[in-house]
Amino acid sequence: MSNIANGKPTIKQDDIDEVQKILKSGWLTTGPMVQKFEEEFARKVGSKYAIAVNSGTAALDLAVAVLGIDEGEIITTPFTFVATVNAILYNNLKPIFVDIKKDTFNINPRGIRKAITDKTKAIIYVDYAGQPCEIDEIKKIAKENNLLLIEDAAHGLGAEYKGNKIGSLADLTTFSFHPVKNITTGEGGMITTNNEEYYQKLLILRNHGLDKTDKSFGGAWSMNLKELGRNYRLTDFQCALGITQLNKLEMFNQRREEIAKKYIEAFKDNEEITLPKLKDNVKHSWHIFTILLNTLDRNEFFTKLQEKGVNPNVHYIPIYKFDYYKKIGLHQELDNVEEVFLRIVTLPMHYEMSNEDVDHVIKSVKEVIINMKVEKK
Ligand SMILES: *Cc1c(COP(=O)(O)O)cnc(C)c1O
Repeated sequence: MSNIANGKPTIKQDDIDEVQKILKSGWLTTGPMVQKFEEEFARKVGSKYAIAVNSGTAALDLAVAVLGIDEGEIITTPFTFVATVNAILYNNLKPIFVDIKKDTFNINPRGIRKAITDKTKAIIYVDYAGQPCEIDEIKKIAKENNLLLIEDAAHGLGAEYKGNKIGSLADLTTFSFHPVKNITTGEGGMITTNNEEYYQKLLILRNHGLDKTDKSFGGAWSMNLKELGRNYRLTDFQCALGITQLNKLEMFNQRREEIAKKYIEAFKDNEEITLPKLKDNVKHSWHIFTILLNTLDRNEFFTKLQEKGVNPNVHYIPIYKFDYYKKIGLHQELDNVEEVFLRIVTLPMHYEMSNEDVDHVIKSVKEVIINMKVEKK
């Protein structure tokens, strides 16, 4: 029986060769590949600076830390991976949740406006599935209210908004290279910015808070601790993998788009399915492909798909529903998040899927729907 993964990485011989080369070079960390990966990444997304770190979560943590906010609120979406919100808490700030739009699952700019208080300092928006948010609207709100912007683009590598690449639009943008993401370094992440001050501070924050250019202790060996930083460094062999992966980004994303188009074509007239709305001013990076079920039970549909060798997923359990967030008083219910969470299913989406795999997913979805409808009668 087929067993089609929901997401998985693509590692080719050139990836392996490059990693091996760096392993044999003996320079495993803080070497030349880090800077090379950063430079190529910055060029790819059209930003001035890129800082490699060892996860997307580390990228978010430092993006918040570099803002230097001592106290206050950050507005974000609860329809994301826990890391987005954990990064706010790591920095002793309060997350404020705003409802999503029912058609794109992205944060609603009108909701952002309403949620602003005199404690609001920043907004973290997430390009859900790889479809950019309404960035012009969000930027306008940020400008009018003097707020900083972080874009969690863990899904959005290769995406574009009105012809501009994601990675060059917010004050800081973060990416993830976890194995299911559009490119991988095993674990890994990147922060991009056009702000030189943020860039210099991020280099220090990534390396314990140590500033090696500070010679106040006298000798050439001198350095100084300037911030309470972390060790969030990415290894050289991972950066080597990042470079070979980055070279294949267009190829990877093109295949993802082909798969998305097949799904859309197959399901667009199915009365039991609602597809996410595609905005016409964006380029989607298709990190994941989701459908909403109109009348059928999601959990039953999920299990029946699994029985056919298709691995669905749910992105996401709303953050505010988790025990820890409840414990710290952040539980709430937002209408669209609640509804979408009950109805959503993520179908398999990755570069390795063959046309037969895609056809099998489509056939299985249609069969499960027909069977469930018959049973309901
Ligand atoms: C994957 C992901 C992250 C975290 O990335 P890691 O590299 O796994 O730490 C953050 N935000 C979103 C939306 C993600 O999908």
